[in-house]
Amino acid sequence: MHDIAIIGAGPAGLTAAAYGLRSQLDIILIARSMGGKVTYPFRLRDAEVADPVWGADLVYQFEEMVARSDMEMVDANVIEIRRLENGTFEIDLEDGRVVATRTIILNTGSRAKRMYVKGELDYRGRGVSFSAVSHAPFFQGRDVAVVGGGQRAIIAALELLPLANQVYLIAPRLDGLARLPAAKEALEHPRMSVFQGWEIQEVIGDGEMADGKFQPGYVTGLNLVGINGEIRSLPVEGVFVQHELMPHNDIARGLVEMDHYGFIRVNERCETSLPGFFAAGDVTTVHAEQVVIAIGEGGKAGLSAWEYVATHRMAQ
Ligand SMILES: Cc1cc2nc3c(=O)[nH]c(=O)nc-3n(C[C@H](O)[C@H](O)[C@H](O)COP(=O)(O)OP(=O)(O)OC[C@H]3O[C@@H](n4cnc5c(N)ncnc54)[C@H](O)[C@@H]3O)c2cc1C
Repeated sequence: MHDIAIIGAGPAGLTAAAYGLRSQLDIILIARSMGGKVTYPFRLRDAEVADPVWGADLVYQFEEMVARSDMEMVDANVIEIRRLENGTFEIDLEDGRVVATRTIILNTGSRAKRMYVKGELDYRGRGVSFSAVSHAPFFQGRDVAVVGGGQRAIIAALELLPLANQVYLIAPRLDGLARLPAAKEALEHPRMSVFQGWEIQEVIGDGEMADGKFQPGYVTGLNLVGINGEIRSLPVEGVFVQHELMPHNDIARGLVEMDHYGFIRVNERCETSLPGFFAAGDVTTVHAEQVVIAIGEGGKAGLSAWEYVATHRMAQ
């Protein structure tokens, strides 16, 4: 029986694991891809290549520390978690193995919803961004489009308005506006154009052929299609895809409380609604998808799980 099973090895999971090393407990780290992926190069025409991820060095440091230790690391997909009557857990791995543990720290992250249109992947990191909080500052004085009809899109538009030259908001429909006091002013702002009921057809960009292969340059515009089939082109250098994030929560469903969007509710100690089950990083309700935030949350979860094991071991 392990003391702590850490699921996920991104910034949150690796930080929890690094704290685990201090505790001298029996810890297992399980992830379907080992290692913190914290490099998101972002380029813009006439701007320096920017890799703006704060905290990346720390994540690499923790990754190395954990890899050099004798902590058990398993490269596997978790498919189910069961809580047993005595308060411990069983974790089913896709390869058929079952892991028994006193506590769990879940750090499975979230993913951005794509548009699935032509050009989206070619120009990802070359004008197309899935994270306004990460890349908005690079668009000073440039024309940008924000795609999405929910809170995340409206907030991105509000954050971009003071920086960008012109902001286009493209939304098949707009939800949840009433909850944002500043939404009305944003939608009526002289440098904001709203395309409600329109969808993206294609991200347009430049590039060149090299060695028989197309090398993408940068985003130069967008093609939109309206509900009546009308096509419009917008000249933009940035496209922020700001649909709501999708948490990787399937293995925690039915076990712990989640919010309306499926993010796991945690308190200030990274405790979920289920004793012995902790969660950290992008899969939780904690605000903002940023590496430094996931690091802090992973640290807290590691310490909370340590305390839980220390105070409950005798009872199990
Ligand atoms: C396109 C993009 C650009 C970004 N740019 C920036 C930026 O510039 N600056 C910044 O600070 N942040 C940026 N972020 C956000 C940042 O990447 C996240 O906030 C951070 O990675 C969250 O860390 P995490 O540990 O919670 O989850 P993640 O890093 O997502 O790690 C999740 C881990 O869980 C594992 N996992 C998931 N499900 C399972 C399962 N069922 N079984 C086993 N393992 C599983 C995965 O393999 C992985 O190891 C960006 C994100 C994206 C998508």
